[in-house]
Amino acid sequence: MKALVLKETKRLAIADIDIKESVGPDDVRIKIHTVGICGSDVHYYQYGRIGPFVVKKPMVLGHEASGTIIETGGNVTNLKVGDRVCVEPGIPDLNSKATLLGMYNLDPAVRFWATPPIHGCLRETVVHPAMFTFKLPDNVSYGEGALVEPLSVGLQAAKKAAIQAGDVAVVTGCGTIGMVTAMAALASGCSKVIITDVVQPKLDIASHFGMIAVNITKQDLKTIVNGITDGWGVDVVFEASGNESDVLQAFEPLRPGGRVVFIGMPVKPVLVDIVAAQDKEARMETIFRYAHIYPRALGLMASGKIDVKPLITDRYKFEDSIKAFEYAANPRPTSVKVVIEM
Ligand SMILES: [Zn+2]
Repeated sequence: MKALVLKETKRLAIADIDIKESVGPDDVRIKIHTVGICGSDVHYYQYGRIGPFVVKKPMVLGHEASGTIIETGGNVTNLKVGDRVCVEPGIPDLNSKATLLGMYNLDPAVRFWATPPIHGCLRETVVHPAMFTFKLPDNVSYGEGALVEPLSVGLQAAKKAAIQAGDVAVVTGCGTIGMVTAMAALASGCSKVIITDVVQPKLDIASHFGMIAVNITKQDLKTIVNGITDGWGVDVVFEASGNESDVLQAFEPLRPGGRVVFIGMPVKPVLVDIVAAQDKEARMETIFRYAHIYPRALGLMASGKIDVKPLITDRYKFEDSIKAFEYAANPRPTSVKVVIEM
């Protein structure tokens, strides 16, 4: 089948690749429709590795997918041929301790699309367990289906923050993940979400979603937080930039007893100000992907509580997917999500 293959660092090709996949009794075969390009795909394309994960042989990219069921295994009852679906890209060992404990995202044996050596989904079809494949509600498009993956990261962060109705939050970083985290925080009950960045066009997009956009090159975050919270501080800080100085200052806008969730992944170890955290008895959380979140994300999309459609700013055809990656590696500041339609 045709696939977008990362041959080696900075070298992509649309190639015919021989992936033999048979549909087991609990599996479905999916014809891929839309794939979102994620920061991690672009990172593998540019650098050939993320931390310990190194691309050593040609790998198909992509892990944010929607499509249509074209075959089902004998045990599958929740899906049928023709169903429009989105796909959770990580497959844990269902007998693992992590899975039994309800945190299958942390199973050390998890196989995750486009994380070497596992092939991703930028190809004609994939075979996947039915239990990690989710039917799209009628009013949710394939494009939105592909965005369930990044949105799930935001919802996992909101869950870890244990948001209470009326909380006020700060999100640092206005990329796709910052944006979906702010959406998840608002949908989870936050009364106000302040989002920061240094790139004004991204902040302009955020302000359309009812977020309070703060350009930290021109405005002082602490002053704005103090104004909104009468000097008390925000209940939750979501660090979604992975930026060294944002991590270091993460506790500054926080109220006493508040929560900080670290979402962004700094490219190297960075400093965390422990005393600033202790001073407020801050609770610190981290996240790694998500678990049991896809149905919630789809429910929020279907109900209209979260609308990710405006985040899809650039669409490419599969034939132009190399161009799509070149663009995603160096996008205009007004771009949020680049998707490829098969
Ligand atoms: Zn992603």
